Amino acid sequence: MKITNVEAFSLVVPIENPIKAPISIPYADELEKVVFKEYRTMLVKIETDEGITGYGECMVRLAPTATRDIVEYVKPLLIGKDPMNTEYIWELLFGTMMNRGHYQGFYIEAISGIDVALWDIKGKALNLPVYRLLGGSQYPKIWAYASSIRFRGMETMLATAQNFVDQGFTAMKIKIGQGYETDVMAVAAVREHVGKDITLMVDANCGYDVKTALKVGRELEKYNIRWFEEPVAPDDYEGYRRLSESLDIPIAGGEAHFLRYGLKELIVRGKVDIIQPNVCRAGGVTECLRIHGLASAYNIPYLVHTGSSSAVCIAVSLHLAAAFNDCFIFEHMQSDWAKDQRNPLRWDLTTLPIKSFENGYIELDDKPGFGLEINEEVIKKHRV
Ligand SMILES: [Mg+2]
Repeated sequence: MKITNVEAFSLVVPIENPIKAPISIPYADELEKVVFKEYRTMLVKIETDEGITGYGECMVRLAPTATRDIVEYVKPLLIGKDPMNTEYIWELLFGTMMNRGHYQGFYIEAISGIDVALWDIKGKALNLPVYRLLGGSQYPKIWAYASSIRFRGMETMLATAQNFVDQGFTAMKIKIGQGYETDVMAVAAVREHVGKDITLMVDANCGYDVKTALKVGRELEKYNIRWFEEPVAPDDYEGYRRLSESLDIPIAGGEAHFLRYGLKELIVRGKVDIIQPNVCRAGGVTECLRIHGLASAYNIPYLVHTGSSSAVCIAVSLHLAAAFNDCFIFEHMQSDWAKDQRNPLRWDLTTLPIKSFENGYIELDDKPGFGLEINEEVIKKHRV
């Protein structure tokens, strides 16, 4: 089998009414003009001479056309190659730029989407779901948590928590980072509302310095929090280490990190308790298998990150979650950035490989590859 064509689609959906940054983030008021004004993603489509087509997604947070151009530039490296030879192709793409300053960012996100599309082809060619290729069980069931309760006033937060409980979720994440008093009040109120049997996590999206994160974390220890996600900036490894050593709540992070090299820093220097790479950013399936192996050597669970990704990334992440024994829970995204405008790239771009969702557990179906059924209409409508 040989690769005959590679196409890249940048997809953009403008958010009609301006929204406040839906997470705690520095310079939030400025970011709504740039980051939070559109839903975006970049799809990679790879065709072969045997009629098998694979799709991948590159995580996009800024300029999907930039990622698209990178894929188009490296296309000549891919044409004519054996799509099953994922190790070689990954090393070829990485080796092309590794001494040219592209160890992270757009280039690695571009490689990620290409690699994911190749794994989709591999699964289809062997007529197996990718989670089976990676060693997963035949009818996997994954515990899932609702992501996330965003800070939109206490009443809305409690209504969201109730809505998640009503859907059958037994675990949910709260976005924090609004300041010590607001965070503690919000977490206390949600805990009080949902009761002691619901698993709660908190996510500060790097909104704190280490001292504030420590103060918030110490108070949140009273509320039985399963993990404290991204308390400080991604490269504040000393801060991560101090928090890990000082708090009883497990510290999580990794969605902003790239490659095994980036995750290694977080594990070895940051001493985090849980890593959460995004497969469409960190280097694709090929690289995430290496990251998984690295984490296992430190007994660190690997949880997949899906937050604010589009449907292809969510589907791929489900396969990794089903294959990795230590991935004890799956981030099941329920909320979009805009409260009053759903993201069609999340909800309509492809069906997900989900057979059922009951009592907090997702059961996967067993379609080959990633089980995607891409809706070409969504691509046509939102392509730029
Ligand atoms: Mg997060």
